Amino acid sequence: MSKKLTSRTEDYSKWYNELVVKANLAENSAVRGCMVIKPYGYAIWEKMQAELDRMFKETGHENAYFPLFVPKSLFEAEEKNAEGFAKECAVVTHYRLQNDPDNPGKLRVDPNAKLEEELVVRPTSEAIIWNTYKGWIESYRDLPLLINQWANVVRWEMRTRLFLRTAEFLWQEGHTAHATKAEAIQEAELMNDVYATFAQDFMAIPVIKGRKTESERFAGADETYCIEALMQDGKALQAGTSHFLGQNFAKAFDVKFANKEGKQDYVWATSWGVSTRLMGALIMTHSDDLGLVLPPNLAPHQVVIVPIFKNEEQFEAIQDKVNIISKELRAAGVSVKFDKRDTLRPGAKFAQHELQGVPLRLAIGARDLENGTVELARRDTLTKETVDISTLTEKVTGLLKDIQKTLFDKALNYRNSHITEVNSFEEFKEVLETKGGFISAHWDGTIETENKIKELTKATTRCIPDSFKAEEGVCIYSGKPSKTRVLFAKAY
Ligand code: AMP
Repeated sequence: MSKKLTSRTEDYSKWYNELVVKANLAENSAVRGCMVIKPYGYAIWEKMQAELDRMFKETGHENAYFPLFVPKSLFEAEEKNAEGFAKECAVVTHYRLQNDPDNPGKLRVDPNAKLEEELVVRPTSEAIIWNTYKGWIESYRDLPLLINQWANVVRWEMRTRLFLRTAEFLWQEGHTAHATKAEAIQEAELMNDVYATFAQDFMAIPVIKGRKTESERFAGADETYCIEALMQDGKALQAGTSHFLGQNFAKAFDVKFANKEGKQDYVWATSWGVSTRLMGALIMTHSDDLGLVLPPNLAPHQVVIVPIFKNEEQFEAIQDKVNIISKELRAAGVSVKFDKRDTLRPGAKFAQHELQGVPLRLAIGARDLENGTVELARRDTLTKETVDISTLTEKVTGLLKDIQKTLFDKALNYRNSHITEVNSFEEFKEVLETKGGFISAHWDGTIETENKIKELTKATTRCIPDSFKAEEGVCIYSGKPSKTRVLFAKAY
């Protein structure tokens, strides 16, 4: 086995990068900022996708697919959106290569194959989708239009990090159209709730639901709802966003509908997305110095079975028992992997499954066969116990539920003990430096103050939590009146 991971206290960011690579989740690629997601990492992403997809369909959405390329003239149409994303766009200008006459064996862009109109590689798909919706919506009978797409997008990010911030990432983007403002707001809030439920019930990550301040809003949105999570190093992570887009895209693409009274009106819109960044959130919330810790609800294998044998005969006997056990576990809805590789010793297998975060490890040897027992080891608490095979399935299903809950409770305790209320800028800086986490503070509501605080401390406003009530106070930085507290944090 490769040597141990750097510890979290030694260098959190090094720990994270090493873990992602060593646990076989992803690796850097030949393209700067773009990653290769390896089978084990992709299997976790697929589990996330499957659950989210189910939740989207349950709330009435359908999947569709729109092109990767957006003609520049369409991209420009909604000005704020275009301006917000312009600096991160990859643009296709040519459609052909040719042999380079000056460099034998090399290719160059064919100067005669210049596109008439440049194509933007989508950083987000509102433009191409709203241009399409124009042809789909005529009257109130066509509404609401509730569509989601699973896709890749490209944002030419300068500082990238595996999963958390990549230049190309996988995501889903919902794009809905509604007859009324109230309905669209309700949809944006509903999808933020769906994200929060997914994060808490499947990822075992507690999140704060809230609204972004104007400066942190999605370009082109009237309101951005979000879920914010806290990582083990005290930094926040935006885990999902849901936008109320008003009539901005409908106006930019002239999407009108005839209402029930027969009058023409612009359509109301939302969009919402979560990305492969969620993988980063999952890793950073639960994992430890030994490697990944996965919540059972998202683990590709919930139980891995390792046989311990000295000869072929022992192996055969163990395998027969394992077949019976696996069948029963699978029938109870547990995903099981029998690691019967004869190229690795049990100790090396244990270390690998520990590094890869398998929630439960079941070891079975010749003595266990005689005694009718197995050894069960929990990844989260690293505790082991001997279990009677006759009660195994019940035991395993109970433990998986317990692991899921234990992980959530642990993350919740950490998060709750890292929300600090402060009333002065001195206190703010001190908490940020010594403890980190979310800081609840009064702020005067201006972008200038937000920028100043960011410049001085690197902390940004994360959200105004739904749970925060209006409260009179004074801004910790400017001393001006404030009507509500906001959560600040250093963030990924
Ligand atoms: P947005 O469209 O900016 O609201 O982002 C939608 C989702 O994608 C949010 O959950 C973001 O946190 C996430 N996201 C934004 N940029 C990146 C990136 N470069 N890499 C991975 N995820 C991202």
